[in-house]
Formats: sequence, structure tokens, C-alpha cells
Amino acid sequence: MKDETKLVVAGRDPEANFGIVNAPVYHASTVLYPSLEALKDTMAARSRGERVVSYGRKGTPTTWSLEDAVAEVEGGYRTAVFPSGLAACAHAMMAYVSPGDHVLMTDSVYSPSRSFCDNVLKRYGIEVTFYDPLIGAGIAELIRPNTKILYVEAPGSQTFEMQDIPTLSEIAHTKGAIVMMDNTWASPLFFKPFKHGVDVSIQAGTKYIVGHSDVMMGTVTTNKENWDQLQAATDVWGQTAGPDDVYLAQRGMRTLSVRLQQHMANSIAVAEWLKGRNEVHSVLHPALPDDPGHSIWKRDFLGASGLFSFQLKSVSMEAVAAFMDDLELFGMGYSWGGYESLVVYADPSSYRTVNQWDNTNPLIRLHIGLEAVDDLIADLEDGFKRLNATK
Ligand SMILES: *Cc1c(COP(=O)(O)O)cnc(C)c1O
Repeated sequence: MKDETKLVVAGRDPEANFGIVNAPVYHASTVLYPSLEALKDTMAARSRGERVVSYGRKGTPTTWSLEDAVAEVEGGYRTAVFPSGLAACAHAMMAYVSPGDHVLMTDSVYSPSRSFCDNVLKRYGIEVTFYDPLIGAGIAELIRPNTKILYVEAPGSQTFEMQDIPTLSEIAHTKGAIVMMDNTWASPLFFKPFKHGVDVSIQAGTKYIVGHSDVMMGTVTTNKENWDQLQAATDVWGQTAGPDDVYLAQRGMRTLSVRLQQHMANSIAVAEWLKGRNEVHSVLHPALPDDPGHSIWKRDFLGASGLFSFQLKSVSMEAVAAFMDDLELFGMGYSWGGYESLVVYADPSSYRTVNQWDNTNPLIRLHIGLEAVDDLIADLEDGFKRLNATK
């Protein structure tokens, strides 16, 4: 089956639900057993790792519909859901490390994941080394005997470096580390982590899986070899996501392919237009042919999403504010992946440690939504008029 078809059918079971197309929302804590024998059988099945309805926290058919859809489209063995993308990142890391271990973390990582390393992993005696996202084969020199996780994110969600994941994975595996990826930018549709050597893949489902800016959700998908360890850790930490949110996430997935095709077309069109603007220093979008990450993107990815950044030529912050403040179609706000366009200012120099980011040219991140491209460009053009009148 092709991905478009998988998105429609995976994780659905109408026959088990009176023919109802979408998995219903099961609200549950207590589950009742008809006899002691049934209770014992269920507990035994559960400890064998089987999926049984046994207690709300352990999942329901609503949860499984989302888990199965993500696992199938992303190409992994199984998926666990988490109450937010960050919870998925944090728990995925914790599932595979113990005190004394070492984690290699890309310097371009989503910054709350960086904070988790700095504030939690280090406190528990787990060493973290941030590495240059463009290090490629040079990673070999940073891997130690106690390195458990090589964490990648491509492209970085503010600075858009493309990492050479097949090369990084091959080296990590020869040295006994697993490869963990934050695959949120591409979604399960446009990058197939398990085909490129990734062992554990994270989605901030809040973004494209949900697709409508109204639900927090995270998923962690693993290959077969790494599933038991994730499941065991998830279980004892009591991780679970609420049924209404899970329902909305699996519902969002059904339209992922049409949404992403449009996000891609719109974002490339806006990025190309920005490239031609005098006010713009550079556009950071791996689908543009002259982007430094373009050849990797073209080799490994199946598409691009709606998120990219651009740098203005050096201007005052007043001019940046004049550009951003009165945009009509670009809401100013964090997160992305919904149907609407967004704009934020970013300052990687405030957190980057390996690549000292030069902040002379202000960095603006756009999420390109499903509006008409001409309207978005007209909005940005008005912004440039305000910028030019201010600087
Ligand atoms: C948003 C985001 C997260 C965290 O997801 P939340 O659901 O907001 O907790 C993790 N990684 C990336 C790349 C993100 O953009």
C-alpha cells in the first residue's frame, strides 16, 4: 500500500465498532472483569506485552488506532503515545539511559529538549555532549564506550541544518549506540526514519499529525529490537494521553497527505519569493536547490513541510518589529503544523554552544499554512514596506 492509502486505513476497525468509521472515544479508568480467571488471564496477557483492555492508563482501542496509524506510516514496529511532543522526547531519552551513560545531542535540537538534557539528564549523572549537526562522519571521534544515544533532528526547527542520518547511523551502530530522531518537521510522511538507520523516532504530534493547532500530542515509534525497553519505561512512568486528544490526533492523520502536499507547495513558493527580496540575507529551506542541505534532503526525504526560516539583512529590532507586528495572515506564535500561517523571531545565539550562531542578521521563522500563496506574499510585502519605512 502507498502512504496515502495507509493514512486512510491504518489503525481503523469499523467492524469492531458497529461500522462506525473512526475509532470511538473510549473514556476509561476502571475496567471490569467477569471472573477471577478473566482477571488473571488479562494480567498474564498484559505481562507478555499483549494489547488487552485492562485499565485506562494502559490504553484503549482509541489509543491503539493512533499508535497503529503512526507505526505503519512512519515504518516502525510499534508506537507509544505521550501527552505532548516534549514528553515524548524526554521519555524516549530516559527509556534508554542509566547513570554513567553518555548522550550525543545535536546542537540544532529543539530547545526544550536541550533544556531537558541540561536540567535533568545531567542531574541524573548522564553526560551530554552537544555536537555540530553537520559533523557527518566526524561523529566517530565523539562516540565513547558509554555512548548510548546519538540524537538527531533534521532539519533543525529554527536553523534548518540537514543532518546526514544514514552516515551518522552507520557509525553509531558500529559503536553500539542507538539512533534517536526527532522527526517532527517531515512528519511520518516525508521522512522514513527506519529506512535510514534510526532506531527510535519521535513526533510532536501536536504539529502535523493533529494539524489544527488545538491538541498537544507526542508519539515515540521504535524498531522491533528497541520496543520492549521503551514500553517497559513508558509503563512505569505512567505515561498516557487523554482519549479526546488521541481521537483528534488519529482523525487529523487521515488528511495528512493532502495537507502536507499543500504546505510543501506553499512554503517553497513563499521561500522562493523571499529569496528575491532585497531585504533578505538568506532563506533557510532545504527544498531550495541552493540550500546547503538540499542534496541530503533530495536524497533522503520525500517532501518538505511548511516550516522554514529566513534572515533579514542587518536591521534594527524596531524594523523587525514593524515587519512582524502588523502582519495580518501570519499570527505571531509558537508551535506550527496547523492549517494557518505563523511567524516568530528566533535568536539561536542565545542557546547554541557548538556552532556559535551569528545573530547579526535577524532570524525569522515562518510556518506556511494553507492560505493562498498570493495572499501570504502580499502580507509579507506590506511587512517589508513597513520595515523599509522604519530602518
Ligand atoms: C513542538 C516541538 C516539540 C515539542 O512538542 P510539544 O507537543 O509542543 O511538546 C518537539 N520537537 C520539535 C521539533 C517541535 O517542533
